Order: sequence, then structure tokens, then C-alpha cells
Amino acid sequence: MINFQYARASDVADAVRQIAAAPGAKFIAGGTNLIDLMRKDVMRPERLIDISRLPLKTVEDTAEGGLRIGALVPNSDLAYHPLIAQRYPLLGSAILAGASQQLRNMASTGGNLLQRTRCAYFYDTVTPCNKREPGSGCSAIAGHNRMHAILGTSEACIATHPSDMCVALAALDAKVRVAGPSGERAIAFADFHRLPGDTPQRDTNLAPDELIVAIELPARGFAANYSYLKIRDRLSYAFALVSVAAALDLSGGRIREARLALGGVAHKPWRDRAAEAALQGQEPGPASFGRAADVLLHAAKGFAHNSFKIDLARRAIVRTLTQAANATPQSQSDKRIR
Ligand SMILES: Cc1cc2nc3c(=O)[nH]c(=O)nc-3n(C[C@H](O)[C@H](O)[C@H](O)COP(=O)(O)OP(=O)(O)OC[C@H]3O[C@@H](n4cnc5c(N)ncnc54)[C@H](O)[C@@H]3O)c2cc1C
Ligand code: SF4
Repeated sequence: MINFQYARASDVADAVRQIAAAPGAKFIAGGTNLIDLMRKDVMRPERLIDISRLPLKTVEDTAEGGLRIGALVPNSDLAYHPLIAQRYPLLGSAILAGASQQLRNMASTGGNLLQRTRCAYFYDTVTPCNKREPGSGCSAIAGHNRMHAILGTSEACIATHPSDMCVALAALDAKVRVAGPSGERAIAFADFHRLPGDTPQRDTNLAPDELIVAIELPARGFAANYSYLKIRDRLSYAFALVSVAAALDLSGGRIREARLALGGVAHKPWRDRAAEAALQGQEPGPASFGRAADVLLHAAKGFAHNSFKIDLARRAIVRTLTQAANATPQSQSDKRIR
């Protein structure tokens, strides 16, 4: 049996105070990832600080015309929230592509950002894994690496970040608002998650004593031309082999602005500004979409079992951009790709 202490936080300041005072502690929100990791003995927090009753469950307009989403808004509530459906349907679609209805009811917005990789070796405590036990080695590099990364890998780790929601948040230029002992700060979404480098044990740039309090979305939601496409082994309840969030601003038959982010291919949601720039000013269509995919994937590198992801990603990018340009976004209730 694993012993741990349990405490409830009464407000944000109390949560930050408690975590700063107990370095071996972890916040718990919906518990859908942390409890699994504890059950499998992958993580052993000495103390759980329950934040699930903190007043961080609202979705509000910001003065800049965007939205502020509380860190404890459940994934289901967020996906179906009328302001998300109207103004940021890309985000709602990506959330509904993930997990199951029951899990989305429990899972929180903040917890989704901090869910850990699904690399099987990370969960298997008898195999070496640099993320679980720094310096022990990476079993995936010469092992079964079909689900693993093709971009931004290192010699220490080739894991992927499993979130769907985060791929849309990357494309939408979100900000993560966090509270710590010295106050609140905002982290640009692109800087929140990390590449593995030689410290794969660190998934994000959040400090251990910081609490995510909200996600902020800018005013532009690309509600007219967007799509989230998730390619997986079965149509539901599976993590992405490759996923694509695409959003376009079209004017006069040309692309005024493009957003393109991928999931299932890297240690973080992979947004590529060069690929987006390659689309700017172009006519939407297979030729420009294929060129953008080539830019995005030029440095992709496969391993023994996942090289198929490079071609899969290329075709998924072209398909998702086509859906976005035609204003026929991928349905998340009928997930068949047509
Ligand atoms: C079977 C299964 C299938 C799944 N499929 C998918 C999928 O297809 N796509 C997908 O995107 N996700 C999927 N998920 C993951 C699910 O979305 C996450 O488990 C969930 O979003 C985590 O949220 P939570 O509130 O339960 O986090 P918790 O488990 O409570 O916490 C996760 C981590 O975040 C930390 N934390 C939580 N909130 C905060 C905060 N506000 N500030 C600082 N730290 C915090 C905790 O300390 C912990 O380390 C799946 C999960 C399961 C179990
Ligand atoms: S890919 Fe990363 S998480 Fe998986 S075994 Fe290697 S070090 Fe561990």
C-alpha cells in the first residue's frame, strides 16, 4: 500500500501556500491521470492537495474580447459551452475527440495540460525510462515505438504528449495563467510544454509550486474555417497516432492567415510557424497544403515502428486543411473520415 497525506485547499492562495510548504506534494483535480499513475506506482506523491472545490469553474469574457477559462472547468462543460461552440469550435471539437464522455466529465482544463505521456515503458516500472527515472535509459528508442514521436525527439526520450485539447489551444495562441508564491504570471502556450532534450522528466515550464488558474484565449477564434482531425487505431477511446488542428482566415480566394498544430507527433503540441507562413497569401488547395505539410515535416525522423507517421501526418495535414477551407470540419460524433 502507498501511504500519502490528503488535504483540501480552501482558496488559491492556500493551495499555493500548501504546495510551497510540501515539495513532495501534488495537486489533484479530476484525478483521471494522477490516480492511475499512483495505482501503477509511477508517481508517489507524499501529499495530495485537493483543488477540486476551488472557485475556478467559470468561463468569462476578457476585456480584450477573448475568453478566460477557469482551470477547473470540466472538459465536457468546456466542449459544450455556448461561447466555445460559437467562437472557438476548434477547441470544442478537439476536446470531444479525446477520452470518453465519463472521463471528460471528471477531467479538468488544468489537468488536461498536465496529463503525462502514454508511453507504455513510462507506465511499466520494471523497464528503464528517463522520464520516470532520470538516467536509467529510454526503452522506447530500440523498443516498441509505434506510438512515439517523429519531431523534436532527443537521445533521452521520444515520447509524445497525449492531449487533444492542447493541440487546439496551441493553434489558437492560448495563454496559461498560473499562480505561485510570488504572484500570478502568464505563459504563452508555445512555451508551456517542453521538448525532452536531456531532461525528459520535465514535461512543462510550470514550477513545482505553481497552480494553473486559467487558460486565456485571444479574441480570434477562427470559427468559420477550422477542423480537428484525429487519426487513431479505433474510432473512439484511443490516443492519437497523429492529430491536426487547422484554422484558416480566408479572403478573396486566398489565405490571409493560417494556424496549424499537430498532436501525437512530439513531446509537446507541435505548432510550426514556418508552415503557417508558407500558407499565407496562397490559394487554398492541395498544392499549397502539400507544400505546407512538407515544410512542417522536413525534419521528421521515424524509428523502427513509427516511420509510417510521417506520410500519415502529411496526408492528415492536407485533409484537415481541406476540411477547414471548405468549412466542413471533421465531425466528432460521426468520427469517420470522408
Ligand atoms: C482511459 C483514458 C483515456 C484518455 N483519452 C484521452 C484522449 O484521447 N485525449 C486526451 O486529450 N486525453 C485523454 N485522456 C486524459 C484525460 O484527458 C486527462 O487524464 C485529464 O484531462 C486530466 O485531468 P484531471 O483533472 O483528471 O487531472 P488530474 O489527474 O487530477 O491531474 C493531472 C496532473 O495535473 C496536475 N494538476 C491538475 N490540475 C492542476 C492545476 N490547476 N494546477 C497545477 N497542477 C494541476 C496534477 O497534480 C497531476 O500531476 C484519457 C484518460 C484516460 C484515463
Ligand atoms: S520515450 Fe520517454 S517516456 Fe518512453 S521510455 Fe523513453 S524516456 Fe521513457
